[in-house]
Amino acid sequence: MEYIIDTHTHTIASGHAYSTLIENVKAASAKGLKALAVTDHGVAMPGGPHMFYFGNLKVIPKEIEGVRIFKGIEANIMDYEGKLDMPDSILKRLDVVIASLHDVCIKPGTKEENTKAILKAMDNKNVDIIGHPGNPAFEIDIDAVVKRAKEKDVLIEINNSSFRTSRIGSYDNCYKIAKKAKEVGATMVIGSDAHICYDIGNFEKAHELIQKLQIPDDLILNLWPEKLKRFCKL
Ligand SMILES: [Zn+2]
Ligand SMILES: [Zn+2]
Repeated sequence: MEYIIDTHTHTIASGHAYSTLIENVKAASAKGLKALAVTDHGVAMPGGPHMFYFGNLKVIPKEIEGVRIFKGIEANIMDYEGKLDMPDSILKRLDVVIASLHDVCIKPGTKEENTKAILKAMDNKNVDIIGHPGNPAFEIDIDAVVKRAKEKDVLIEINNSSFRTSRIGSYDNCYKIAKKAKEVGATMVIGSDAHICYDIGNFEKAHELIQKLQIPDDLILNLWPEKLKRFCKL
């Protein structure tokens, strides 16, 4: 099986990433990916794009260099009620909405508070993916989050960057999350979280984890062209 999509990537619009959309698309094409989600940080991220950036994503063609482009966002969860930093009126027009906890936008709370923030974010029908839930800075009730994700048909992200340069110490949590997801049959998605084009489609460490846990292919969205239909809003 081959990975056909990278669901989590950043461009220079995020403020602390280094490649343009076109550079990312060319990298995706060179790696043989069929689809790429562009998911720049939401407006609350320091240095992040203005709201208009997301409203105007419609100008980007649906396909570039043979790669299907899904227009999205990595929205910030702003409080323990799961409020996101973008209005639903814009989120509903995007193909892919990742909701993530970042400590520059929300102070890590207790395990109960962090869990509530994610569970409530999943109540938002526009949310497709919970980004890097294995982050050790935000302790969560893994069983509760994974079970709710299954119920709500929200994807659990295994973030490759968490094993390399970001959120050091994520491995054990990600292991537990993926193991639980396998147990309950929750669908996962692998994202590179690339902040430079060279990392597009880099799933190496996440792949190792999935192999180690012998996760069945049908629980990994990146492997299935027909599962990409859920992102086809624009
Ligand atoms: Zn993130
Ligand atoms: Zn990201």
